[in-house]
Amino acid sequence: MPSIFGKKTKPPVPTMLDGGNFKPVKDYAKYYNKYAIKCQEVKYDRSIFVDVIVADMTLRGLVQHCESVKKKLELPVFTPEDKSKVQKWEEELHHLQEAISFQQHRLYECATFLPRQPLKQMYDSVRENPAWYCHPEIVEDCAKRGGCCGRSCGYCQTRHLTTLRAKGIVHCTIGCSCCSEHRGADPSPEERTGVNKMIESMLLSSNPTYLMKMIEAYFSKLAYLTEVTRPKKE
Ligand SMILES: [Zn+2]
Ligand SMILES: [Zn+2]
Ligand SMILES: [Zn+2]
Repeated sequence: MPSIFGKKTKPPVPTMLDGGNFKPVKDYAKYYNKYAIKCQEVKYDRSIFVDVIVADMTLRGLVQHCESVKKKLELPVFTPEDKSKVQKWEEELHHLQEAISFQQHRLYECATFLPRQPLKQMYDSVRENPAWYCHPEIVEDCAKRGGCCGRSCGYCQTRHLTTLRAKGIVHCTIGCSCCSEHRGADPSPEERTGVNKMIESMLLSSNPTYLMKMIEAYFSKLAYLTEVTRPKKE
């Protein structure tokens, strides 16, 4: 059937490659403020990618911090000192829950601002696969930043299986309770904000290597990852 728009209809989106869909523009580092990423010969401002990745990482950090506070609240209370700690943790939990709902909204907003074709479609199709968290780039990133993927605890996988479909989960952030146990201490508030700032500056570096890895993981579907067993829906 001919289109109501006559011959001027847009061509269908070409099939995406199995990874490797994005490239920095030539001389990426040379032109300040004009950093751009190419996908299918179309240039996009890198900030639309950075915003999504940072919003996701921030949400993950808050969710994991919240989980670790909940774990502390499960501890038995004996002394008045314990009681005052519980009060402090309950307040912390309340603030975190508020921050999480704000951040969920923020991530949704950033994803909504992506151009529908092809970026939003690519972003959504990556997330259709529950195994997307196994993308080698983000597993490596978790391990290199001292997360659980670099140890044998298997915590990232456990976290994924127990929080199916929830957003803002998967790999370790500074808020991971298993990582804190491994370090033997909770991170300070300064450490928490410091890590987020450091990741953001890595993404915004004039060297696009880290940003490209993260964009591939967040936007390029890897067909072979679908072979990982899909956990049963509860
Ligand atoms: Zn661990
Ligand atoms: Zn991990
Ligand atoms: Zn961890």
